[in-house]
Amino acid sequence: MTASIHTTCPYCGVGCGVKIDGQGAVTGDQLHPANRGALCVKGMALGESQTLPNRLLYPRVDGRQLDWPEAIATVATGFAEIIKRHGPQAVAFYGSGQMLTEDYYVANKLMKGFIGSANIDTNSRLCMSSAVAAHQRAFGEDAVPAGYEDLAEAELVVMVGANSAWTHPVLFRRLEQARAANPAQRWIVIDPRGTATSQQADLHLQIKPGSDLLLFNGLARRILDSASMDRAFIEQHVTGFAELSLTLGGSEYRTDKVAEATGLTIAELNRFYQAFLDTPKTLTLFCMGINQSEQGTDNAGAIINCHLLTGRIGKPGAAPFSLTGQPNAMGGREVGGLANQLAAHMDFAPGNRDKVARFWGSDRLAPGPGLKAMEMIDALERGDIKALWVMGSNPAVSLPDSARARRALEKCELLVVSDISPNTDTARLARVLLPAAGWGEKDGTVTNSARTISRQRPFKPAPGAARPDWWAICQVAQAMGFEQAFGFDSPAAIFREHAALSGFENGGERLFDISALSGLSDEQYQQMTPRSWPLAGRETGPARLFGDGHFATPDGKARLHPASPRERSEPAGARLLLNTGRLRDQWHTMSRTGHVARLMAATSEPQAQINPSTLSRGGLDQALLLQLHNERGHTLLRVVADESIPPGQVFVPMHWSGEFSSGGRVNDLVSARGCPTSGQPAFKQNPVQVVAVRHQ
Ligand code: SF4
Repeated sequence: MTASIHTTCPYCGVGCGVKIDGQGAVTGDQLHPANRGALCVKGMALGESQTLPNRLLYPRVDGRQLDWPEAIATVATGFAEIIKRHGPQAVAFYGSGQMLTEDYYVANKLMKGFIGSANIDTNSRLCMSSAVAAHQRAFGEDAVPAGYEDLAEAELVVMVGANSAWTHPVLFRRLEQARAANPAQRWIVIDPRGTATSQQADLHLQIKPGSDLLLFNGLARRILDSASMDRAFIEQHVTGFAELSLTLGGSEYRTDKVAEATGLTIAELNRFYQAFLDTPKTLTLFCMGINQSEQGTDNAGAIINCHLLTGRIGKPGAAPFSLTGQPNAMGGREVGGLANQLAAHMDFAPGNRDKVARFWGSDRLAPGPGLKAMEMIDALERGDIKALWVMGSNPAVSLPDSARARRALEKCELLVVSDISPNTDTARLARVLLPAAGWGEKDGTVTNSARTISRQRPFKPAPGAARPDWWAICQVAQAMGFEQAFGFDSPAAIFREHAALSGFENGGERLFDISALSGLSDEQYQQMTPRSWPLAGRETGPARLFGDGHFATPDGKARLHPASPRERSEPAGARLLLNTGRLRDQWHTMSRTGHVARLMAATSEPQAQINPSTLSRGGLDQALLLQLHNERGHTLLRVVADESIPPGQVFVPMHWSGEFSSGGRVNDLVSARGCPTSGQPAFKQNPVQVVAVRHQ
């Protein structure tokens, strides 16, 4: 009988271990530290998503099926000619948190190291780049301070802008188990919307959308006046205290003013603030509600400030904890797969450029940061970007202002798309389609929210001529003349180089160092068990970081960052405020989960959830279908009266694409504006008008 294959779930950033037995049955991996055998409904349905209809099986160029050598030559020649005519800034890559670390590494190396442009960004820009920027600003490096062990250690769990019961279900189950084992653990959920998560909270703070920064600045001010402030920790390990104190002295942070601005009662605020002040073991989990905002970095920074002021970091059950949306958003960050990063947690500082150029043996390294996701769309619109290679992502519907994004993609002279499906909205616009190996067929590593690197292992051959992304990227790189630097013959070889770069001339100044793994043999790579970084001579890294009060900044101290709320750029006025988010049973634009009957059962069509009082005020009580519209676009949705949505707001799941419905492309209505520090778009608060299209 064939031995079971241990691999990792391809969906969310919890990063659950999955076991595939000899008959192909899927179960949770008892040995994986993230889930200890548990799986959510999406994970359990992985077996059913193995036979997707209309799989892309062969390369296509201009609609014609070609073999790989011809397709590779088309891409390589196309990119090379555009670079020759217009320079390296005229080309770009757009990747995905679905890519494996090895795919990401060679994509980043090709674009930044050898093409000489940093125009590589990913859909991770849309989900956690604000948390990344806040980590870098406060800690000196993009390092999540907590681990999953802290869920059981915490006595107060604050969940902000995170519907974890649906979006990180196995992590939420661990929390439920933690509370069952320790009935003293309390949960406070901060979310404008009533959710499956808030239903289980001891306290639900239904704040006004976009008032998170004010709420946490108000908390920081209360900390300054309380015994919970850790003066010794601040003096020894933190800078920026005077500047933050000055900012928090403003009258807008008085509790009564914060209550008014957040829409909470003073009693609710006092309960939250007092619980935080009284509980040293406080863990603050945050996700898209914090990150996807015009001040996403400041929101995350305000949470971090509260933990630094109380010294609640690096201790069991005490830390700010950014939850990652995608399975390998963290791995992409490790290789430097965002346009403002260089590689291996290094930025574009001259010393880092020299190091990476020497390591890669290249004299063509990108001179500085490249274009972030939305800047790429602007550049496509202007005609400045002429060739774009999209890998494992569907930006034609997942980017904000997506109708505009589609028009920009249509203008692209050479749009190359690597995917498992030819039917995504983006694939349909491509000149060149490259068939990618999917989950269960590809081989490599991913890193979850808790810095744990796990293997994704293949358990079946890829169909037709589908190939892994790393292979296609290396083939194109070699065809462009970079044979030596891209002569990898396996993911193991790429992983060894990635690991070696993380330790290259790293005199301990960077936490991300997995160079101990650079000597793994192919066999050892195949057998590798999950392990967290930083390794620093250990088999696996610590559950939590910064326990010694030393941070990755030049002076070793964490930085408090003061920030005040700004006016939202698009006030709602009389319009409804649109909020978007995920459903429990769907993933991204549904290219996999949309084909699984049991995952489509709960919500089978795009819908708009609206409070009944809002419906009746707008004369929409009898509406069956609604059109949501604003100056950017419109979309058609079935109306669902829902008491959990606050009056004046509308919630729409973000998953529907042209592949599954003629309506529901909600990102057509979302503004491209976002956080100026991180470049993350503000998906959560967009004014829309609503009209009934059909009545019951
Ligand atoms: Fe997969 Fe996330 Fe569910 Fe775990 S919680 S099984 S990683 S979707």
